[in-house]
Amino acid sequence: MGRPCDVCGDAADYANGHGAWCEVHTARARREDAEAARWDAVCALVDCENNAGWDGLGRARKYCSNAHSQKAYRLRKAAAAAAVMAPRSTLTPGDGREDVSRSE
Ligand SMILES: [Zn+2]
Ligand SMILES: [Zn+2]
Repeated sequence: MGRPCDVCGDAADYANGHGAWCEVHTARARREDAEAARWDAVCALVDCENNAGWDGLGRARKYCSNAHSQKAYRLRKAAAAAAVMAPRSTLTPGDGREDVSRSE
Protein backbone atom coordinates (compact mmCIF):
# COMPACT_ATOMS: atom_id res chain seq x y z
CA MET A 1 0.00 0.00 0.00
CA GLY A 2 1.07 3.57 -0.22
CA ARG A 3 0.26 6.76 -1.95
CA PRO A 4 -3.01 7.44 -3.68
CA CYS A 5 -3.05 8.61 -7.27
CA ASP A 6 -1.72 12.14 -7.56
CA VAL A 7 -4.62 13.07 -9.78
CA CYS A 8 -7.78 11.38 -8.55
CA GLY A 9 -6.87 9.86 -5.20
CA ASP A 10 -7.64 6.28 -6.20
CA ALA A 11 -5.18 3.62 -5.18
CA ALA A 12 -2.01 4.05 -7.14
CA ASP A 13 -0.97 1.17 -9.35
CA TYR A 14 2.40 0.03 -8.10
CA ALA A 15 2.46 -3.05 -10.28
CA ASN A 16 3.40 -1.05 -13.35
CA GLY A 17 6.21 0.83 -11.71
CA HIS A 18 4.41 4.15 -11.73
CA GLY A 19 3.50 4.48 -8.12
CA ALA A 20 2.22 8.01 -8.31
CA TRP A 21 -0.88 7.33 -10.39
CA CYS A 22 -3.78 4.94 -10.68
CA GLU A 23 -4.07 2.83 -13.81
CA VAL A 24 -5.98 5.47 -15.73
CA HIS A 25 -3.68 8.29 -14.84
CA THR A 26 -0.56 6.24 -15.37
CA ALA A 27 -1.58 5.96 -19.01
CA ARG A 28 -2.10 9.69 -19.13
CA ALA A 29 1.23 10.35 -17.45
CA ARG A 30 2.95 8.16 -20.01
CA ARG A 31 1.37 10.14 -22.82
CA GLU A 32 2.44 13.35 -21.21
CA ASP A 33 5.95 12.00 -20.79
CA ALA A 34 6.04 11.12 -24.46
CA GLU A 35 4.81 14.57 -25.32
CA ALA A 36 7.37 16.18 -23.06
CA ALA A 37 10.06 14.18 -24.80
CA ARG A 38 8.93 15.68 -28.10
CA TRP A 39 9.11 19.18 -26.74
CA ASP A 40 12.57 18.44 -25.38
CA ALA A 41 13.85 16.67 -28.47
CA VAL A 42 17.15 17.95 -29.76
CA CYS A 43 18.07 18.10 -33.44
CA ALA A 44 19.22 14.67 -34.60
CA LEU A 45 22.03 16.08 -36.69
CA VAL A 46 25.42 15.33 -35.22
CA ASP A 47 26.86 18.31 -33.37
CA CYS A 48 23.62 20.28 -33.44
CA GLU A 49 22.16 20.99 -30.03
CA ASN A 50 19.19 23.00 -31.16
CA ASN A 51 15.75 22.02 -30.02
CA ALA A 52 13.99 20.13 -32.77
CA GLY A 53 11.17 22.61 -32.57
CA TRP A 54 8.13 20.38 -32.36
CA ASP A 55 5.03 22.51 -32.82
CA GLY A 56 2.81 20.36 -30.61
CA LEU A 57 1.02 18.69 -33.50
CA GLY A 58 1.52 15.33 -35.12
CA ARG A 59 4.79 13.50 -35.32
CA ALA A 60 7.81 14.41 -33.33
CA ARG A 61 10.35 16.45 -35.22
CA LYS A 62 13.88 15.19 -35.52
CA TYR A 63 15.73 18.20 -36.84
CA CYS A 64 15.73 21.84 -35.90
CA SER A 65 15.35 22.95 -39.50
CA ASN A 66 14.87 21.74 -43.05
CA ALA A 67 18.48 22.59 -43.69
CA HIS A 68 19.61 20.15 -41.02
CA SER A 69 17.14 17.52 -42.14
CA GLN A 70 18.59 17.75 -45.63
CA LYS A 71 22.14 17.83 -44.39
CA ALA A 72 21.54 14.68 -42.36
CA TYR A 73 20.00 13.07 -45.41
CA ARG A 74 23.04 13.92 -47.52
CA LEU A 75 25.35 12.60 -44.82
CA ARG A 76 23.43 9.33 -44.72
CA LYS A 77 23.61 9.00 -48.50
CA ALA A 78 27.31 9.74 -48.45
CA ALA A 79 27.84 7.15 -45.72
CA ALA A 80 25.85 4.60 -47.68
CA ALA A 81 27.88 5.32 -50.81
CA ALA A 82 31.11 5.00 -48.84
CA ALA A 83 29.93 1.69 -47.45
CA VAL A 84 29.26 0.37 -50.95
CA MET A 85 32.70 1.51 -52.07
CA ALA A 86 34.46 0.08 -49.04
CA PRO A 87 37.12 -2.47 -50.04
CA ARG A 88 36.05 -4.92 -47.39
CA SER A 89 32.75 -5.42 -49.14
CA THR A 90 34.69 -7.53 -51.64
CA LEU A 91 36.12 -9.63 -48.82
CA THR A 92 32.77 -10.43 -47.29
CA PRO A 93 30.28 -10.93 -50.08
CA GLY A 94 26.74 -10.51 -48.88
CA ASP A 95 27.85 -8.41 -45.97
CA GLY A 96 28.72 -5.34 -47.95
CA ARG A 97 25.62 -3.44 -47.10
CA GLU A 98 26.21 -1.34 -44.08
CA ASP A 99 23.22 -0.97 -41.86
CA VAL A 100 23.23 2.78 -41.99
CA SER A 101 20.97 4.10 -39.31
CA ARG A 102 17.48 3.78 -40.67
CA SER A 103 16.03 6.61 -38.73
CA GLU A 104 14.71 9.04 -41.26
ZN1 LIG B 1 -5.97 8.56 -10.96
ZN1 LIG C 1 19.98 21.20 -36.17
